Amino acid sequence: MVDLNKPVQYIKGVGPSRAELLNKLGIFTLQDLITYYPRAYEDRSKPKTLWDCEDGEEALIEVVAKSKVVETRMGKRTMQKLMIGDETASAEAVWFNQTYLKSKFSIGQKYRMYGKIDKKYRKIQIVSPVFDEYGYTQNTGRIIPLYPLTYSLSQNVLRKIMENAIKEVYGNLSETLPDGMLKKYKLPAINEATKTIHFPKELKDFELARTRLVFEELLMTQLALLKLKYHDMKAIKGIAFSKEYKIETMIERFPFTLTNAQKRVLQEIERDMESPKMMNRLLQGDVGSGKTAVAMCAAYKAVKSGYQAAIMAPTAILAAQHLENFEKMLTSLGIRCELLISGITKKKKEAILQKLQQGEINILIGTHAVLEDDVAFKNLGLVVTDEQHRFGVRQRDKITKKGQNPDILVMSATPIPRTLALILYGDLDISIIDELPPNRKKIETFAVTKRMQERVDQFIKKQIEEGRQAYIVCPLVEEGEDNTLKSVIELAEKYQKEIFPEYRVAYLHGKMRPKEKDEIMLQFKNHEIDILISTTVIEVGVDVPNSNIMVIEDAQRFGLAQLHQLRGRVGRGEYQSYCILKYEGNGETIRKRMKVMCDTNDGFVISEKDLELRGSGDFFGTMQHGLPEFKIANLFEDMAILKKVQGEAQEILRQDAELKLPENQLLRRVVNQKLEKLGTGTL
Ligand code: ADP
Ligand code: MG
Repeated sequence: MVDLNKPVQYIKGVGPSRAELLNKLGIFTLQDLITYYPRAYEDRSKPKTLWDCEDGEEALIEVVAKSKVVETRMGKRTMQKLMIGDETASAEAVWFNQTYLKSKFSIGQKYRMYGKIDKKYRKIQIVSPVFDEYGYTQNTGRIIPLYPLTYSLSQNVLRKIMENAIKEVYGNLSETLPDGMLKKYKLPAINEATKTIHFPKELKDFELARTRLVFEELLMTQLALLKLKYHDMKAIKGIAFSKEYKIETMIERFPFTLTNAQKRVLQEIERDMESPKMMNRLLQGDVGSGKTAVAMCAAYKAVKSGYQAAIMAPTAILAAQHLENFEKMLTSLGIRCELLISGITKKKKEAILQKLQQGEINILIGTHAVLEDDVAFKNLGLVVTDEQHRFGVRQRDKITKKGQNPDILVMSATPIPRTLALILYGDLDISIIDELPPNRKKIETFAVTKRMQERVDQFIKKQIEEGRQAYIVCPLVEEGEDNTLKSVIELAEKYQKEIFPEYRVAYLHGKMRPKEKDEIMLQFKNHEIDILISTTVIEVGVDVPNSNIMVIEDAQRFGLAQLHQLRGRVGRGEYQSYCILKYEGNGETIRKRMKVMCDTNDGFVISEKDLELRGSGDFFGTMQHGLPEFKIANLFEDMAILKKVQGEAQEILRQDAELKLPENQLLRRVVNQKLEKLGTGTL
C-alpha cells in the first residue's frame, strides 16, 4: 500500500523548493496532492490542419519543421522563429526569449504543436506553442488538466508532478466505498477515478470519475455529521428537565396567540428538554417569525426546573432588546434576567458574576462577553444562541462547557433548503418555523432604476412627514473597507445636504466602535434620527417598529438571501412597509433576481431561488458559516448526488451505527479523519 501521508517533498519531481510552493496551495501530503483537482481541461488531442485553423483559436497542429530556428534580437527581447508546414499550408512558429529552442528542432522531423493561431495578412503563425516530437504526449496529443494555480508554479510543472504522483498511487489506493454501492450507482473504482479526474482519456470520461469522487466526499461528510449527532444522542447524557412545568403555561401568558408553527417547534423542544439526552437543536425561522418567543418558553422551562439559562446575541443592542422582551414576560413570574455585555464597569460586572454564581440570576442575556473565562454559572441548563452564523462551533463548545452538558438551541434566520440543512447542520436536529404571525402586512417591494431616484426621494419624504423613519443601505463596495467607509459617509452627506436637509440623517458602518454603533442604533430606535444610512451592519435583527422604508442602493450586488435579511428590518410594526431596490444593469439574471424579491416575502423560496440563480459558491460565501469545505463537490450542482448520499448514509448507520462491520471499516477510517478535521475528535 502507498503512504498517502508522505510529505510532497519526497514525490518525484518535487524537492524542497517546489514543496514550499505546493504548501502555499495547501498541498502538504501525497493525499493532498492527488485530491488537488483540475479546474478545467484543455483538449489538445484533436489535430487540425493549418488550412482549417481559425484566427485567434488555440489549436493542435501536426507539422514538419522546414528550417532551423532563427533568432532575432528586438531590443531587450529575442525572438525565435521556425518555418513549419503540413500538407495544406506553410506557417511560422514563434517564441520569445527561448534561446534554448535554437537546437530543439530538426529539419524534416514531424512535431505536434499546441498554441494560439494568428492568421492575418495571409500569413499563418502559431504563437509560443508547446510541442512534442510526433508520437510523444508530454504537452500535446491528449487532454491536459488545468489546475487552479497562483504562486510561481506553472501548469507544466504541476502536471508533471501530478503524473508522477498518479503513477505512484495508481493501483495502490484502497477502495473506500463498499462494493455494493459502487455497483448500485455504477461508479468507477477509486484508482480509476483518481487517475481519470487528472488525466481523462476522453473529455466525457471525467464526468463519471467526478461523480464518484463527489459521491464519496459527500457521503463521508454526511456520515461524519450524522455520526456526530448519533454520538451526541447516545453517549452524552444531558439534563432531563421537569415534566411538571409545561411550556403550555407560558404560551398562555403571551399577549398574542402563538402560531401553529411556533407551537409545533415548542413541542419538539419540550420533548428534547424532558428527555435525558442532550438537546442539540437548530431552530430556523424567517425574520419576524417569532423565534424570541420560542426561546423565552424554553428558558422558562429551564428556570422552572431549577436551572439557569444563557441567551447569546451577536450585538449588544440585540442583547438589550432581548432583555427588554424577556423582562416584560418573565419578571412578573419571579424570574430574574440580567444583561452582560462588554464595556460595563468592573464593579457592575463583578456584581453580576457573583449573583450568577450564586444562582440569583436565572437568565443571563449577553454578547460574546458571556464566553469569557471568569463567567461561571451555578447550574447552567440551557444555552440559546441567536443568529447563529456569527457564532462558530468552537464558541458553542465554550459556552457548553460552562454547564454540565446543557441543552442547546441554536436560532437562525437564514433559511436553508432542507437537503442543505442536513449537510450543513448534520450534527443538529432541526426545527423549522414556516409560518409568520397572522396579519403581517407584506412588505411591498419595488425594483427601480436610477431614473426613478427623484420619485423615490419624494416617497421617502412623504413617509417621514407622516412620522415614519427610513433605512438606506449603501452599495457593497468591493475594494475594501476604506472605500466602504467613504461610500457611506459620502452618501450620508449627499442625502443630508442635498436631498433631505430638513431631516435628521445619520450613518452607521462596521468600522465604528461597538459603542458608537449601539449609540446610533439607539438614537434611531428612539426616533432621534429620521434616516439611517448604513452598510450591511444593520442586517442583524434590531426592532424599530416605526421605520417602514428600506432602500437598498445597487441592489444587484447583494445576494437574495442578504436582501431578504435586510428587508426584514422593516415591517416590524403596525405600518405598511416598503422595500425599494435600486438596481443597475439589465442582464436577465439581475432582472430575475429583482423579480423574485418583488414577488415573494418567503425566505425559503428566496433561498432556493438564490441557489438556483447564483450557484452554491456565492450563496455560501455570503452566509459566512463554518461549512465543511469541499474539494470537489458543489452543493448546488451536485444536489441530485447529495440526495442519494443522504439516503445511503442513513441506511448505513441504521444497519451499522458504530461502523463496526468489516465492510464498513474503510468508511469508518475516512469518516474518523473527517471528524478530526471538524475538530471533534474520533469516536
Ligand atoms: P425573529 O424570529 O425574527 O427573531 P421576533 O421574535 O423578533 O422574530 O418576533 C418579531 C415580532 O413578532 C415581535 O414583535 C414579536 O413580539 C412578534 N410575535 C412573535 N410571535 C407572534 C405571534 N404568534 N403573533 C403575533 N406577534 C408575534
Ligand atoms: Mg430575532
